[in-house]
Amino acid sequence: MEWLEVSVAVENEVAEVVAEVLSRYAYRGVAIEAGPDGWNTGPVVVRAYLPVDDQLPANKRRVEEALWHLGQIRPVPAPVFHPVAEVDWVEAWKERLDVLRVGRRIVIRPSWRDFVPQPEDVVVQLDPGMAFGTGLHPTTQMCLVTLEDLTRPGAAVLDLGTGSGILAIAAAKLGAGRVLAVDNDPVAVKAARSNVIANGVRGTVSVVGGSLDGVPGSYDLVVVNILARVIVEMVQEGLATRMTPRGRLIATGIIDNQEPDVVVVLERTGLILEERRQTDDWVCLVAKRDHSLD
Ligand code: SAH
Repeated sequence: MEWLEVSVAVENEVAEVVAEVLSRYAYRGVAIEAGPDGWNTGPVVVRAYLPVDDQLPANKRRVEEALWHLGQIRPVPAPVFHPVAEVDWVEAWKERLDVLRVGRRIVIRPSWRDFVPQPEDVVVQLDPGMAFGTGLHPTTQMCLVTLEDLTRPGAAVLDLGTGSGILAIAAAKLGAGRVLAVDNDPVAVKAARSNVIANGVRGTVSVVGGSLDGVPGSYDLVVVNILARVIVEMVQEGLATRMTPRGRLIATGIIDNQEPDVVVVLERTGLILEERRQTDDWVCLVAKRDHSLD
C-alpha cells in the first residue's frame, strides 16, 4: 500500500495536540521527533501516514481543516504532504526505534537491535509492524510503569486495544498468570500474535480480535490505552464489571483537559481514582472499586 506522509513542524508544547489531531485519521503512524536542535529548543516534527485509498482526499481535507482550527488557538504551520511507499514507511520506523528502558526493569528491544540484558531486566522484544505500540509514546510508557508496580504473580490481566501487544507481553513477563489481549484492528491482532510468539509467552497471552463486548470473565488488572472518548464508551458499556473486586483499571490515551469527563463516568459506575500520572498533556489514571458503596 502507498501512504501519504504528513509532517508538521511545531513548538514542543503543541506537538501532542497536533499528534492527537493527526491520529484521528492516521493512528497507526504518528511519530513525534526532535528537530535539528533537540527536544527542548526549536520545533519538533509530528509525522503521520494516511493510507492512499478512496478516503484519502476526504481525510487530507479533514487534517487540513483540523489543523487550521487548531491554528486559531495556537500557532500551527500548514502541513507538508509527501507520498511514500509502504516499504519506506516500515524502514523509516525501523531506523527510528532503538532499545528503550522504561520504569525500573522493563526494556523494549526492537527485534532488529542487539541487546545484552542484565539479569533483572524484563525484556519485551518487539516488531510493531504496522500496529501502534512501539514503546515511544508517553501513554504506553505510563502504562508500563504502572504495570510494573501493580502486576502481582499469577494476576489475570486484560489489555484492551493491545496494538503491537507490548503491554500484554510486558504483563506476562512481569509475572501475570493469564493475559487476554484484544484489538478491533486485524493488523494489530496479527502483529500482537507474532510478538507474543517471539517473546515465548504464548502459554500466558491470548490475542483475540474484537472489543469489550466479546470479553469473558473478570481481571485483576484491566489496561486500556486508547482515547478518552473510547474509554468513556467502554466504561458506560460495563468495563467495571470485567474487574475483580480488588481489581484495578489503568486508563490512558487521555489528554489532560478530557480527564474530568473520564473521572465523572468512572465514578458513576462505582470506581474511584486511586492514582494518576501525567507526561506532557497525557494523563494515565488508576481506578479501583469504591467499596464504601458495597
Ligand atoms: N496498547 C498499545 C497500543 C495502544 S494504541 C500501547 O499502549 O502502546 C490503541 C489500540 O487500540 C489500537 O491498536 C487500536 O486498533 C485499538 N482500538 C481502538 N479502538 C478500539 C476498540 N473500540 N476496541 C478494541 N480496540 C480498539
